Amino acid sequence: MIAGRAHTEEVTVFADVPLAIDPDEVLRFQGYKRGIDVPTPDVLALFDEALALGRTLIAPSAAVRWLDVTDRSAGTVVVGGVTLTIPDIERLWGRVERVAAGVCTIGDALERRVSELWDERELPLAVMLDSVGSGAVESLAEYVNDALCQEGIRRDVKVTNRISPGYGTWDVAEQSQLFRLCPAAAAGVSLNDACFMRPAKSISLLVGAGPEARVDHYFSQCARCWMAECAYRRVPARRPVRR
Ligand code: SF4
Repeated sequence: MIAGRAHTEEVTVFADVPLAIDPDEVLRFQGYKRGIDVPTPDVLALFDEALALGRTLIAPSAAVRWLDVTDRSAGTVVVGGVTLTIPDIERLWGRVERVAAGVCTIGDALERRVSELWDERELPLAVMLDSVGSGAVESLAEYVNDALCQEGIRRDVKVTNRISPGYGTWDVAEQSQLFRLCPAAAAGVSLNDACFMRPAKSISLLVGAGPEARVDHYFSQCARCWMAECAYRRVPARRPVRR
C-alpha cells in the first residue's frame, strides 16, 4: 500500500496528503493575473498570515472509483449504468476505456473560520483565507489527477486531464449523475438537491483512461506533477502540488 492511500476494490481513498499550495493560484482567486499584477508587501504579508492559519484548518481528503466504460458517443459516456452527457467528450478525450470518478475536499474547518472572521469584521483576512482554501482544494484535485496518471502508467494506459460538472460546457446539473458513481461518502462529501457540495471547498472530478486517451488537452498535467523519475514526463515540473 502507498502511504496515505488505501485501496478497497476499485476505490482509492487519499488522506494525509502533503499538499503544496501555489501562492499564484491563491492570488488568482484574489483577482491577480499571473505575470501582470504584482502584489504589494501588505498583500504578501496577509497571504502569509492566511496561509499559516489555513494550514492549521485544512484536512485534505479524496476518494475515487475506477469504472469500465460500457458505451460512448460523441457527447456521452456510459459507466456503471449511468449516462454522463458531456458535450464533445469523444473529441476532447479520444477513445477511453475506463473512467475514474471522484471527489476531493479540504473539510469544513476553514470555511467555518472564514465565517467567524466575517462576523468579527476581519474582512481582508477572511477573503484571503477563503482564497487559500480555494487554492488548496485546486491543488488537491491536481494531486489526485497526478496520482491517477501515475497509476495509469503502472497499468500501461494514458490518463486525461480532469473535468467537472459546471466547468466548460458540462452542465452543473450532471453533478448528481457523477455523485452516483464517485465514492463521495468515503471523502466526507455530500451533495444537496441544488447540486451544491458540502463541505463547500470540494471539487468533483472525472478522468478518462485508455491506450488511446488524449492527454494535455487543457494544460500539461506534468507541470504540477511531483514524480521526478517519470519516464513519460512531457514538460518539466513547474510548481508541484506535493510538498
Ligand atoms: S510526470 Fe506527467 S506523465 Fe508522469 S506521472 Fe506525472 S503527470 Fe503523468
